[in-house]
Amino acid sequence: MKLIFEKSRSGRSCDILPPSDVPEYIIDKAYTRESECRLPEMAENDISRHYTEIVKNTHGVNDGFYPLGSCTMKYNPKINDEIANLNGFKNIHPLQPEHTIQGALEALSLAEEYFCKITGMDRMSFQPAAGAQGELTGLLLIRAYHEERKDFKRNKIIIPDSAHGTNPATATMAGYTVITIESKEDGLVDLEKLKEVVDDDTAGLMLTNPSTIGLFEKDILEITSIVHDNGGLIYYDGANLNAIVGLVRPGDMGFDVIHLNLHKTFSTPHGGGGPGSGPVGCKDILAKYLPTPTVEKSADGYKFKYDNKNSIGTMKNFYGNFLVVLRALTYVISLGQDGLKDTARNAVLNANYMMHNLKDIYQVAFDGPCMHEFVISIEKLKKEQGITALDIAKSLLEYGIHPPTMYFPNIVAEALMIEPTETESRETLDEAINIFKLIYDKAKKTPIKLKEAPNNTYVGRLDEVRAARNPILKYKFK
Ligand SMILES: *Cc1c(COP(=O)(O)O)cnc(C)c1O
Repeated sequence: MKLIFEKSRSGRSCDILPPSDVPEYIIDKAYTRESECRLPEMAENDISRHYTEIVKNTHGVNDGFYPLGSCTMKYNPKINDEIANLNGFKNIHPLQPEHTIQGALEALSLAEEYFCKITGMDRMSFQPAAGAQGELTGLLLIRAYHEERKDFKRNKIIIPDSAHGTNPATATMAGYTVITIESKEDGLVDLEKLKEVVDDDTAGLMLTNPSTIGLFEKDILEITSIVHDNGGLIYYDGANLNAIVGLVRPGDMGFDVIHLNLHKTFSTPHGGGGPGSGPVGCKDILAKYLPTPTVEKSADGYKFKYDNKNSIGTMKNFYGNFLVVLRALTYVISLGQDGLKDTARNAVLNANYMMHNLKDIYQVAFDGPCMHEFVISIEKLKKEQGITALDIAKSLLEYGIHPPTMYFPNIVAEALMIEPTETESRETLDEAINIFKLIYDKAKKTPIKLKEAPNNTYVGRLDEVRAARNPILKYKFK
């Protein structure tokens, strides 16, 4: 497929603007660009076809099954977009006077109230644009807390080895040394190892619950007490909230600060880079450090508060990705309390259904029942047939299924992490189960075929090393 720049023809356009009837304003040279901006020049018909072709060559939730573990690729109700598209939300300016955007401020305030209720937190900021930025924000709150208490010795963050890669990366960015603790045989946090490493230099613990292997940490209250008793704080990576939303609250488990991935648990189309929203919620003890501005309700309406002298500052301009927050708020309001509970229950049911139907063929990494996702290992097939997790993933593409998350978590060899989500029907799950079985048969009988997959997609196997080492991100004009 040609790039839009390659299709461009000088002088071709689709603007139908009338000639200007006001005098031209000449902008000071200091503010204008030195060379002309080279935008593609095309007719509307060709632009339309170009983007339609791109859509056809990608895979989204609207195309088919998308069991990308940990990413919660669920169906996104269209009403969310309708609300986010309302002029009063979409066309406002972030610097508009407060009295003209009371509705938007009320929406932010309501979102804070609902998401605090859902998570058991006291305050929340919607500034962070994604989970990873939420993690950094959360750890900076923890750092601010210890620093204000002059507890400078605390320079370590404890993270289980099953954690998402962003956790250790974030802790390092926040200036901490990462202490990794090995999980037990059963995949859960090892309490004895935790006790060994927790000390008066522990700033905090970062934990995902249910973990990235789809297991609920049943000793969570003991885990959080061990850290609290030693003066540390506890961070909740909320990417897996889909399994427990409406049923269990991180705040009640003992977590002090959390992030949510609104673009995972609370719908919003994602993949391909956003936009996302990773709000950070915290208990009262950390609230004064939250990013500015916060939204506050007063007698004469809603206001932004900028003068929080303890604040860690601003993490993202203005108030974050506001329209994503609106989608999530619409989602929560339209489902209601009971609907949210069903979301979690059905997510767990669907994952267990798939796991149960695959466990006799594929090697399940940890004995179930699982939460909203499960991990299978392709290690045995690799030894016997030379077939890897990558080969299975590429073969699924031939059947219109997006591959599961591959080679994560790191503690499972040849891992495939499957998260069906609650929005898939039983028929879709049955079809996917059959395809997984079919691919297994092929791996046994004609493994060479799987090595060549996918054969019917727009592109076959890509040179992933070259793509990572030598990415071409800019169009080179001739
Ligand atoms: C997705 C994810 C993150 C990071 O969130 P982003 O929104 O992608 O930055 C962190 N932890 C876990 C467990 C995740 O699944």
